[in-house]
Amino acid sequence: MTKLLYLDDSYRTEAPAKILSISEEGGFVLDQSLFYATSGGQPGDSGRLIWQAGELVIETTRKGENGTLVLVPKSGQSLLPVGTEVIQKIDWDKRYLHMRMHTALHLLSVIIPLPVTGGAITAEKSRLDFDMPDVAAEKEEISERLNALIQRDLVTSDIWISDEELDNNPRLIKTLSVKPPRGAGKIRLVRIAERDAQVDLQPCGGTHVKTTGEIGRLRVSKIEKKGRQNRRVHVVFDTDGASVN
Ligand SMILES: [Zn+2]
Repeated sequence: MTKLLYLDDSYRTEAPAKILSISEEGGFVLDQSLFYATSGGQPGDSGRLIWQAGELVIETTRKGENGTLVLVPKSGQSLLPVGTEVIQKIDWDKRYLHMRMHTALHLLSVIIPLPVTGGAITAEKSRLDFDMPDVAAEKEEISERLNALIQRDLVTSDIWISDEELDNNPRLIKTLSVKPPRGAGKIRLVRIAERDAQVDLQPCGGTHVKTTGEIGRLRVSKIEKKGRQNRRVHVVFDTDGASVN
């Protein structure tokens, strides 16, 4: 298994690691990873592996077998042997944009409290698909409510619970919009705002900003009809009200 360092501190950009194995596609499996692997609509991290005699560019990160993460190097670079001690560095600017967008999508799911059927995040724009046969609100209204939550600068935090605790707290399940993944023995819940002020609590293994104020202004750029049941809601960063789309 790869230890997922980003779960403890999503702001850490640099850490030591050791190459445990090399995957069939020539990717590196580390003992511990700051790199987030593509999942839940969030792209895998890129960055670099640095060692005594050089460095290597990592293009993206994927989930491997048995709880491992695979760092995929840019092609045409010479590979490092198993056992090499390296320093891993993620491309922070891009990751931070992903963190802001990812946290924003939690808030979007608060404003539109309907089942989420899909989603995708990039550094410029993101989207969530909802099981929403009728448009519940206009994009201007959703943007306004989204920015109001962002401006409250709510604190994000996580709670780890066991499968058993979840079973023993049916009320908790009601607040969850996604069925949590079972089997690992424990589930990470991400909470936005504390105690009575809590606005969201859902299982998530992604990377989030510390407070919603870090997200910055957003704008719902488009609400698209996707079939009879679904609506796709697109959000972009709203830099000084200028179009980013
Ligand atoms: Zn999340």
